[in-house]
Amino acid sequence: TEPKTEPKQLKKSSKLSNVCYDIRGELLQTANRMEAEGQRIIKLNIGNPEPFGLLPPDEIVRDVAMNLGSASGYSDSKGIFAARKAILQYYQSKGLLSAVDVNDVFVGNGVSELIVMVMQALLDDGDEVLIPMPDYPLWTAAANLAGGKAVHYRCVEEDNWQPDLADIERKITDKTKGIVVINPNNPTGAIYSDELLRGIAELAKKYGLVIMADEIYDRILYDDAVHTPMSTITDESLVLTFNGLSKSHRIAGYRAGWVMISGKKDHASDFIEGLTMLASMRLCANVPAQYAIQTAMGGYQSMQALTAPTGRLCKQRNLAVERLNAIKGISCTMPQGAFYCFAKIDRDVYPIENDMQFMMDLLIEEKVLMVQGTGFNWDQPDHFRVVFLPNLVDLEDAMDRLDRFFAKKRQE
Ligand code: PLP
Repeated sequence: TEPKTEPKQLKKSSKLSNVCYDIRGELLQTANRMEAEGQRIIKLNIGNPEPFGLLPPDEIVRDVAMNLGSASGYSDSKGIFAARKAILQYYQSKGLLSAVDVNDVFVGNGVSELIVMVMQALLDDGDEVLIPMPDYPLWTAAANLAGGKAVHYRCVEEDNWQPDLADIERKITDKTKGIVVINPNNPTGAIYSDELLRGIAELAKKYGLVIMADEIYDRILYDDAVHTPMSTITDESLVLTFNGLSKSHRIAGYRAGWVMISGKKDHASDFIEGLTMLASMRLCANVPAQYAIQTAMGGYQSMQALTAPTGRLCKQRNLAVERLNAIKGISCTMPQGAFYCFAKIDRDVYPIENDMQFMMDLLIEEKVLMVQGTGFNWDQPDHFRVVFLPNLVDLEDAMDRLDRFFAKKRQE
């Protein structure tokens, strides 16, 4: 064939047409441009603890450093034995209901890689997955990327963001393969009651759904909140538990996460074989980071110092909630876990049509970067997420700017 003189526009794959991840989207690109011009932006957009001075425990860093020499080869595709054993013991100590062994644990480059892998292994074109609304948007993106369809079930703000069981059941069809439960929740900070978790487990059993429990915030709990792992609630469905060290041990950049398979495995061997193949295709997760897992799971509870009433994270949460609720037309529930507030905007006070543009105005006018509610697949342009990781001084500064921004919008 003749060489073409005019190169055609290189188009992205149509597989990406329903895939979006706004947490690192257009707003962040604008913020980066502004920073490159020398402006200082307060970034309340990602849950990345270390840049806010929330440093990893020394022993975790030492474990990784000490093993750098011997951890320079590939590991088993599922991860090193000691890490997987420690992960099992963690769940066993919490009352895991079913028998599991090291073969049921896959270590990944963060939970993110495993979410994508599990969706690829699970879904045929058109298969549906129930995902909370609002959600952590990777779940929706990964389901759609795998050719599936994310179907969003409602979490109810007036009910402290608990999932609506009736809405879940209404949305189950004969194409529904699984249900995602994010507990403690990003972006709402909600923690689900055992009764609610049992309700979800019953629906999963009744309709034969795989339960995907994202529990990455299970150690970041405030007040007297208690987190119950899904794997201790039911063994009557296949339960995939996702967790990792990015948040609890402030090593988001090391990329250490896992998925554990528990519950009803007898009909799942083909799916597990698929997942095992995908794990081997990418050879293994970052090996040095895997050496942090055994120490991390062995009872290191440093998070409590941060989340207790006198701890930094708890104080920051209280300040963020208090300041947000003091703004006319803004309200937010008290997060019980994680480090986010999902704040509501009263559209009678602020008649917003496009919440991304609204957050863009905030970025440009006040140099504060936050993600709009629709970025979490919320269906109305009336929420935004605040990351309360900055120290009290920076958080006060951000809240002053927010105050000023909303006051100006009321006058427009
Ligand atoms: N799941 C939830 C709910 C999250 O908030 C995040 C990160 O923000 C992840 C998964 C991904 O975490 P990682 O890939 O760092 O393990």
